[in-house]
Amino acid sequence: MKVEKVMVVGAGQMGSGIAQVCAQAGYQVVLNDLKLEFVERGLGIVSKNLSRNVEKGRMTEAQKQQVLDRLAASTELNDAAGVDLVIEAAVENMDIKAKIFAQLDEIAPAHAILASNTSSLPITEIAAVTKRPEKVIGMHFMNPVPVMKLVEVIRGLATSDEVYHVIEDMAKTLNKVPVEVNDFPGFVANRILMPMINEAIYTLYEGVAAKEAIDEVMKLGMNHPMGPLTLADFIGLDTCLYIMETLHEGFGDDKYRPCPLLRKYVKAGWLGRKTGRGFYTYE
Ligand code: NAD
Repeated sequence: MKVEKVMVVGAGQMGSGIAQVCAQAGYQVVLNDLKLEFVERGLGIVSKNLSRNVEKGRMTEAQKQQVLDRLAASTELNDAAGVDLVIEAAVENMDIKAKIFAQLDEIAPAHAILASNTSSLPITEIAAVTKRPEKVIGMHFMNPVPVMKLVEVIRGLATSDEVYHVIEDMAKTLNKVPVEVNDFPGFVANRILMPMINEAIYTLYEGVAAKEAIDEVMKLGMNHPMGPLTLADFIGLDTCLYIMETLHEGFGDDKYRPCPLLRKYVKAGWLGRKTGRGFYTYE
């Protein structure tokens, strides 16, 4: 099967990046969100990223325009009717993803593959709401998508080998490195990363050190490019909390309990960079 047309559902920080790399690789892309203003915000981010590439001499103005011309805006899941692949990047919430996949299963052509960019939710459970579980797969991009090389490709229980290989090859055409992973809570990336971030939040919560000190220790001591609290703000604190809850529930082990301070910040609407305030404040 050849992928030519792609729909990306969710035009937030991940969806806009996924749409960008797909359009840059030559795919026709439909970028979908609940409201046109959300899609336009996503397309605005893409346009800004491409302009930066033009300024740095990585592409011409004409190439930028060609990429933008391959992107179409959508607020209707019905637009999945003509695509070969859907990559869902809506919020990290099982009920919302289940609803989206059940609808997509009705709308998308029989041959279409339905992928989720979920950070931690079970691909097998998402697949179970469809009548094509063999065509449901995880495609977990890293943030920021245009920069980061990795795509964790997650096999659900029923994902077919054929579908796995189509997605593995497609990820390579995006200039990414696909890595095969099985379907367990948090997969590999977030099973290891998120408990570290959660522990950094506990370290702050218990007054062991100031936020800047915690980040400095991990940057200078462990050679991490950014500290865990800065990284949490970058990922989004709501997404961090959803992932910890998925690990906690999925493994039934209290070592994954989310830090109360993380819950408090999310309840306050302090979601990190995207809302201008998290552990740090942003302009
Ligand atoms: P975000 O909050 O920036 O964007 C989510 C978008 O989905 C919003 O624009 C929202 O309007 C839209 N949306 C919500 N419900 C929808 C629906 N029913 N139909 C269409 N659009 C809908 O979130 P994000 O950081 O882009 O995360 C999206 C997904 O990617 C999540 O599953 C998250 O776990 C995963 N992810 C995030 C990161 C990260 O670092 N932020 C990394 C990898 C994977």
